[in-house]
Amino acid sequence: MKSFTRIVFVAGFLSTLLMGQWTIDPQIEAKIDELLAKMTFAEKVGQMTQLSGINERYEEMIRKGEIGSLLNVVGAKETNRIQKIAVTESRLGIPLIFGLDVIHGYRTIFPIPLASSASWDTALIRKTSVIAAKEAGSEGIRWSFAPMVDIARDPRWGRIAEGAGEDPFLGSAISRAQVLGFQGKNLSDPLTLMACAKHYVAYGAAEGGRDYNTADMSERTLREIYLPPFEAAVRAGAGSVMSAFNEISGIPASANKFTLRDILKGEWNFNGLVVSDWNSIAEVIQHGIAADKLDAAVKSLIAGVDMDMQGSCYIPALEPLVTNGTLSIDLINDAARRILRLKFMLGLFEHPYVDEELHKEIILNSEHIQTALELARESIVLLKNEKNILPLDRKKIKRIALIGPLADDQQSLLGCWQCMGRKEDVVSIHDGLKNRLGGDVVIDYAKGCEINSDNKGGFKKALQAARQADVVIMAVGEHAYMSGEGHSRSNLDLPGVQPELVTAVAESGKPVILVLINGRPLTLADVEPQVAAIVESWQLGIQHGNAVADVLLGNYNPSGKLTASFPYTVGQIPVYYNHKNTGRPPAGGVESLNSKYIDCPPAPLYPFGFGLSYNTYKYSNLKLSSNPLPIDGELLVSVQVQNTGKRDGVEVVQLYLRDLVASVTRPVKELKGFQRIALKAGETKTVEFKLTHEHFSFIGMDNKRIVEPGEIQVTVKDLQDSFWIK
Ligand code: BGC
Repeated sequence: MKSFTRIVFVAGFLSTLLMGQWTIDPQIEAKIDELLAKMTFAEKVGQMTQLSGINERYEEMIRKGEIGSLLNVVGAKETNRIQKIAVTESRLGIPLIFGLDVIHGYRTIFPIPLASSASWDTALIRKTSVIAAKEAGSEGIRWSFAPMVDIARDPRWGRIAEGAGEDPFLGSAISRAQVLGFQGKNLSDPLTLMACAKHYVAYGAAEGGRDYNTADMSERTLREIYLPPFEAAVRAGAGSVMSAFNEISGIPASANKFTLRDILKGEWNFNGLVVSDWNSIAEVIQHGIAADKLDAAVKSLIAGVDMDMQGSCYIPALEPLVTNGTLSIDLINDAARRILRLKFMLGLFEHPYVDEELHKEIILNSEHIQTALELARESIVLLKNEKNILPLDRKKIKRIALIGPLADDQQSLLGCWQCMGRKEDVVSIHDGLKNRLGGDVVIDYAKGCEINSDNKGGFKKALQAARQADVVIMAVGEHAYMSGEGHSRSNLDLPGVQPELVTAVAESGKPVILVLINGRPLTLADVEPQVAAIVESWQLGIQHGNAVADVLLGNYNPSGKLTASFPYTVGQIPVYYNHKNTGRPPAGGVESLNSKYIDCPPAPLYPFGFGLSYNTYKYSNLKLSSNPLPIDGELLVSVQVQNTGKRDGVEVVQLYLRDLVASVTRPVKELKGFQRIALKAGETKTVEFKLTHEHFSFIGMDNKRIVEPGEIQVTVKDLQDSFWIK
């Protein structure tokens, strides 16, 4: 039996992620002291108020210092016009901060976050955040309500589209990359955006995958799965965090002192500001923990929400509650201070206005479009490729039938949160194929059916096209607003009559290549056997069509790997790779009494980390630098990877650990390292991972992060070894 001598790690255990978190600047604090001393109660709660849009009433409120921030106001001229009111017509001239949901691009729309996470390319994701910040900043926006870092294990939940999938390690790396990208080297640069890690916290754990629904979980799961990407954002220096709509085990997230004040502002020493989600302070009344808006405001203030988005709960009417001792003025002062701190850090006091010409050379420039193409290609995941039908052999193909409701669509390819994206900027799949094929291949397009209808009127024409073609490309899936906020689904099949269209076309006998356009994992078990290839293209933004054509034609060798598991059926959900073993794992024990379904495999159809390439890669020589390892030691794991195919390619090398015996149960595998490596045909590279106690640590019995002695299994692809921690 192993002994449970262990190291306990307190706050800030993620030392490698510490870089970037800022500390308090005494000069700024002195300026805030001066300002706070001049402010009335109404002006303080004014700073703590954020409203959406603009109208005459809001302009008057700005003059009176009753609004600190606006969201959903766009355009350089318009933000300058409104800013001028705040700076020149209000008593203290405190500038506003303009916020917007710049989720996956401003005007240059990149792949939706779930898609881009499939690239595992944190450097490129960071670059897209830099670009988004430049574009938005050039029009006066200085605050993005991104990154969305909610872990999502349930594809019914429409907001899975907005995040990086099911894994906290990858999710943390991507969270960090986005924060660093948005905020740049110095937040006072006008072409940066203050990041906002959202939705704090456990929003993705909504019961039944129904948006806004209850999340009920152990503190261990909260700390191990849902909190890490937020901690990563804070360590990277995120200026703000958004409190979520959901309740967490009985306490609404926007009035949750434990998660906000104790963990975020306490354990992690977060000095930035917490903004509520849209009306989420007022909604604690609906949750049933407050009687009215004032009660809600007091609860959220005590919990640590500094700014009220669109709920108008932080109002001068709170002042008597201070006088009668219900509410401490310190809470108001601290909230106002945090908001002013960020306004100083953003340089808004020195430079409240944006240069109105700047956006002309920045928005949608050629470098941005090229980056959109690169990330779009990298986000595509090849799920099936029977008999290597892909890439298409251009010598053999003279006529393509392009079928499906999304084949000529532009709007859907922008996904949810289209920001300032425009349909006319988007390359459809049809246009992408035309662009890449030139005139020498005939493309016979037939829509077949609508995305979500029961009308089969278009089937006949689609079948005619299929029969005459050498190969069929079918673009099927969801429209942009079948995922995202408030768009949960209980059925994850292709919507409407699309499954029947696939069957009808496949019966033509022609090879069918399915190109999926969707904002979440779908259930594909029925259509999968009918088609020769499946290309998961998600919603890739403005360069969608070109990226898909590049993959279909072999100009780009697909390298994307899933970051969220694709279930066989909704009945399996939640199904995720880092699950526990149970006492009766599916592969062992008495056949009829183990943890399985009698009508479906226990594992998903396509798991986390899966994705094919036009190449094969051979893994060998897994080596560990030391064994046993001292409890606070470092371990180097190396492995050789050879490109055994005929094309150059990129492989995402993934390292998983499993703690075999611990004081609490551990997942069957956990991602603890990944690297994207480019390999020329035939080339071999040695990939090295450095592992430290952070990677072996977990949340122990007392909900503290610990490392224990014992055996840890290392898995890289099909290679396995283990080492001991002493
Ligand atoms: C969403 C947030 C978003 C906010 C502002 C809310 O409904 O949940 O993600 O940032 O609106 O648009």
